[in-house]
Amino acid sequence: MAVSTLPPRGTSAAPVAAPSELVQHWIGGRIAGGAGTRALPVFNPATGAVTRQVALAGAEDVRAAVASAQAAWPAWADTPPVRRARILARFLELLNEERDALAALITSEHGKVFSDAQGEVARGIEILEFACGIPQLLKGDFTEQVSGGIDNWTLRQPLGVVAGITPFNFPCMVPCWMFPLAIACGNAFVLKPSERDPSASLVMARLLAEAGLPPGVFSVVQGDKVAVDALLSAPEVRAVSFVGSSPVAHYIYQRGAEAGKRVQALGGAKNHMVVMPDADLEQALDALIGAAYGSAGERCMAISVAVLVGDTADRIMPKLAERARRLRIGNGMQPEVEMGPVITRAALERIRGYIEDGVESGAQLLVDGRRQPHGDTPFSVSGHENGFWLGATLFDHVTAGMRIYREEIFGPVLSCVRVPDFASAVELVNAHPLGNGVACYTRDGNVAREFGRRIQIGMVGINVPIPVPMAWHGFGGWKGSLFGDTHAYGEEGVRFYTRQKSIMQRWPESTPKGAEFAMPTAK
Ligand code: NAD
Repeated sequence: MAVSTLPPRGTSAAPVAAPSELVQHWIGGRIAGGAGTRALPVFNPATGAVTRQVALAGAEDVRAAVASAQAAWPAWADTPPVRRARILARFLELLNEERDALAALITSEHGKVFSDAQGEVARGIEILEFACGIPQLLKGDFTEQVSGGIDNWTLRQPLGVVAGITPFNFPCMVPCWMFPLAIACGNAFVLKPSERDPSASLVMARLLAEAGLPPGVFSVVQGDKVAVDALLSAPEVRAVSFVGSSPVAHYIYQRGAEAGKRVQALGGAKNHMVVMPDADLEQALDALIGAAYGSAGERCMAISVAVLVGDTADRIMPKLAERARRLRIGNGMQPEVEMGPVITRAALERIRGYIEDGVESGAQLLVDGRRQPHGDTPFSVSGHENGFWLGATLFDHVTAGMRIYREEIFGPVLSCVRVPDFASAVELVNAHPLGNGVACYTRDGNVAREFGRRIQIGMVGINVPIPVPMAWHGFGGWKGSLFGDTHAYGEEGVRFYTRQKSIMQRWPESTPKGAEFAMPTAK
């Protein structure tokens, strides 16, 4: 098996790879291991072709990565924050030079359209820009004279070795939610990316090394559950950030907590968009089409449920169906394309199963993505017949008891629920066990304000369909969408990757006062 050549620098064309090329680990500042161990094929979802193989780390590989991180972090933690920030700033420069090449690589392994992949890289870069301000973010608090001659201050110190386990749907942005801040805070970071689209992780590793990051401060172990379990078992790993589906998030949270690790585990989503009768319907329509079908619905902030209040459904459904049928679906590298394929053949079968289930449970299937929009032939894209294709799918008259409503489908399927009024819309959203994002479309300021206050969801958009918070605000859901206390990135990210220390200091005068046995209080 050929050993990985990293994607070339400075190109924006879709990278060409050989099916035998092996995507390996990054340990101790260079490509490592992998050859001769377990491997999985990596596909281009638009063609269905195998483009490379990814090595699957065993416990030995993970031990090597953790050992190199453990050796590297004390010196890195001792490096002044401003010097750490300078290395990240250089990495930022390099990433900016490579952003289009990286986006093309993402499209070739994930399938999302190139402009969407560019957007993902841009959102990752924003977190990096935020992390470059680490000297300011790590500034402690100081109180002079808390008692006679005593000062008290608090500071935040790194944890040591921390790990990140990330999903397939944002192979650049989600790792960037984690490692820039973890590293900026003085930790060494071990990334376990998704095995579906592993190559972006190595581009970032190479650029970090070029930027001057010491070996061992950032490592990558490719792999599956075996690698994840080895990270969870490693006593040196002090904290784990996870982003992925809710059952795995729950598992990581339990296992990590049992082992005494700090864990933030972000899970799945079922994001609702409430459309009030007074909303600008054209705006709501654009928002629903983009947020439901963008990235083939494979976004944790995708809208998968439209909650149509009062007579909204009668007015919007015909237009929604027409727009869903007209969606331009194809290879994401073609500029006119609006939606690409789904990630794997298994995902395609899973989503088709949900569509079948929706029909059987009595929902009205207005647009069936399994077939061409006009006619009864199976959905396919000309010239790409082996790709993992599904058209936009639209259900009306979905109810809360149906599986297609309760469970995350993670595909281009929009379920519409009709409710009589605002109160029922809020009640419906709040009763759902997942709580990542939500949106409300209205022109009424009071409705918008009440919605923001009453809704039991972590991220809320008012006339904004995908309210992904900016780098300095932090990202996280509620309920079954987040296990743990802190959101990803922002100041919550800094808190997650550091621990607080409080120091109280007195420089006694030369005349001793004798021992004190009462609890010290301010004097
Ligand atoms: P996934 O849960 O299948 O995989 C996520 C990671 O966990 C991968 O690195 C994978 O290798 C690993 N993994 C998978 N199964 C495992 C197991 N049994 N034990 C240990 N590790 C395991 O998720 P995915 O399919 O890659 O990504 C899609 C999911 O991620 C969706 O549910 C989506 O909503 C969610 N997601 C959530 C957010 C968020 O911020 N809340 C963001 C992006 C994606």
